Amino acid sequence: MTQTAIRPQLAHLTQVLDDLRAKGTHFRLRVLDDQQAPVCHYDGREVINLASNNYLGLANHPRLIEAAIAATRAFGVGSGAVRTIAGTMRIHMDLEEKIARFKNVDACVVFQSGFAANAGTVSAILGKEDFILSDELNHASIIDGARLSRATIKVFKHKDVAHCEQLLKELESAPGHKLVITDGVFSMDGDIGAVDKLAALAEKYGAIMMVDDAHASGVLGRNGRGSVDYFGMHGKVDVQVGTLSKAIGALGGYVCGSHDLIDYLYHRARPFLFSTSHPPSVAATCMAAFDILEKEPERIDRLWKNTSYFQSELKRAGFNIGGVNTPATETPITPIIVGEGRAAMELSRALFDEGVMGTGIAFPTVPEGKARIRAIVTSEHTRAQLDRALETMERVAKRMGILGQE
Ligand SMILES: *Cc1c(COP(=O)(O)O)cnc(C)c1O
Repeated sequence: MTQTAIRPQLAHLTQVLDDLRAKGTHFRLRVLDDQQAPVCHYDGREVINLASNNYLGLANHPRLIEAAIAATRAFGVGSGAVRTIAGTMRIHMDLEEKIARFKNVDACVVFQSGFAANAGTVSAILGKEDFILSDELNHASIIDGARLSRATIKVFKHKDVAHCEQLLKELESAPGHKLVITDGVFSMDGDIGAVDKLAALAEKYGAIMMVDDAHASGVLGRNGRGSVDYFGMHGKVDVQVGTLSKAIGALGGYVCGSHDLIDYLYHRARPFLFSTSHPPSVAATCMAAFDILEKEPERIDRLWKNTSYFQSELKRAGFNIGGVNTPATETPITPIIVGEGRAAMELSRALFDEGVMGTGIAFPTVPEGKARIRAIVTSEHTRAQLDRALETMERVAKRMGILGQE
């Protein structure tokens, strides 16, 4: 036992944890013993991994590992300061230029994470006289950025372009700036944002258009260029956010746009100004990842082939993978809707015991009654691995009464 006796000052936290335990949605962290791979070990158990965002298998790609090691040897393990003081290394600039070229935009700034990119950008470009029109299912980092900006937040119904237009109309005479913001791919349901229609609307009403492409980076568009490329909306989206933490395999977030947008963020985005920049190894890793996106698009083809196989087999087995009372997935993100939080967590635990890792997700991350397993296949899963996972999921779900017995 350590010396942290229970003190009444934090008793309210214990109360919350007890409530979660009573609801069956309290969790322990699963610990990965080896590499983030299609088959790996969590808590000492071998599992088929359907839980990571490592869409293209880049998190442990040999060329990325070599790039990280080489950069560490050449430039050390840390950058030593925030970007604006002394922590801008040549390799940071090289990465930003590479991403800007890849995305076909003028400029790019890299943040420590996608979360920091969203929160830091939204809060920097708007102030308290301004308005944010945000899809109800947008990511937490957008919501936090919106709150930090102190702008007025107007939430439109999920992908409801007409509702967004109604809100814009109501604000037509208001003097502030307006920002329309959507995820490119929604992280819990896997559906694609109405980027094209919202961008047209933003244009019509003179609003700023921003897209968070965390789950679209490396997945949608030519060579994984994202939702703007997928919809052919180049030049129509003012602010494009992407992540380096999911398909790119490492860590970080970025913002793409005009030179002045990026220069402004250099001066005003608080995570950029007040938090230390990436180690050189991370920048080098990400550069190697973008090379692979350009040279090996067959990885993305494999990702989509695996996705369509996995999703059609789940449907055939009778699983609810969304599309009735929840949005229908259009990407590798595969929600397996269970309903009650406790049932989803129990299914996740039972699958784990039988060698399949699929994360249970409950309220408040998804609406009450829409708890689910969120499964993501990668380009690197083999057909045999997918079949083994599918067979296990069907068997366990039948045993638990989540799927009907035939
Ligand atoms: C994961 C995610 C982020 C955050 O990205 P990180 O790089 O993990 O911080 C932002 N937006 C969306 C939609 C995400 O899914």
